[in-house]
Amino acid sequence: MLFDTHVHVNARQFMEDRDEVIQRAFDAGVTYMVVVGFDRETIPLAIDIAEQYETIYAAVGWHPVDAIDMTDADLAWIEELASHPKVVAIGEMGLDYHWDKSPKDVQKAVFRKQIQLAKKVNMPIIIHNREATEDIITILQEEDAAQVGGIMHCYNDSAAYVQTCLDMNFYISLGGPVTFKNAPLPKEVAAVVPLDRLLVETDAPFLAPHPNRGKRNEPAYVKLVAEKIAEIRDVSLEELSEKTTENAFSLFRIKP
Ligand SMILES: [Zn+2]
Repeated sequence: MLFDTHVHVNARQFMEDRDEVIQRAFDAGVTYMVVVGFDRETIPLAIDIAEQYETIYAAVGWHPVDAIDMTDADLAWIEELASHPKVVAIGEMGLDYHWDKSPKDVQKAVFRKQIQLAKKVNMPIIIHNREATEDIITILQEEDAAQVGGIMHCYNDSAAYVQTCLDMNFYISLGGPVTFKNAPLPKEVAAVVPLDRLLVETDAPFLAPHPNRGKRNEPAYVKLVAEKIAEIRDVSLEELSEKTTENAFSLFRIKP
């Protein structure tokens, strides 16, 4: 049994065949998922899907690339949705310095507001970090995000930062890149994260694992991620699945 802790089956790439994609995941043993909403269109859809399937949950937050679009009304809306019974986390949120649609200072302000909101509603946060590690860590420390903890999603930094994240009460989630042939960093990380702080995810439709790299990703493929990590750590797929699923239950406070 596997738990895909970060999936966007609410994205337009799944408009045509969402239910089939979800069924394929269930058939592959991916029983649980958190569908992550990140803007005005994807948030309501994440909640709809979570209402439709017993073992699917939702996270609600605002993506840093679109930080410039977020209004106070959006923030109030996210706070209201946090009390929905299937919402288990706030996010994704964070900083993305790869794209320049939203200036850095706007991204930082929107990130801080969402951390403060998560502390107010006492929910874990899901962090998107692209080329912004130093600023992410500074803000998480200044805002005392350790109070709620959460997930370093699609972790793609060196193993040197792992301890800092663990100290702040965060779990490390690994996805497709751990299976990429020319990607040593996530493999190093997969080897050192304590088993009780490790999660698996797809981030579908993005970052499909080998041998599907470059194609549309889907939650069933989280098994390829788990298999690779099990191989790196020299544990059985069964043990890795069981532990990472338990970790997700505990972080999201889900009672299966
Ligand atoms: Zn995402």
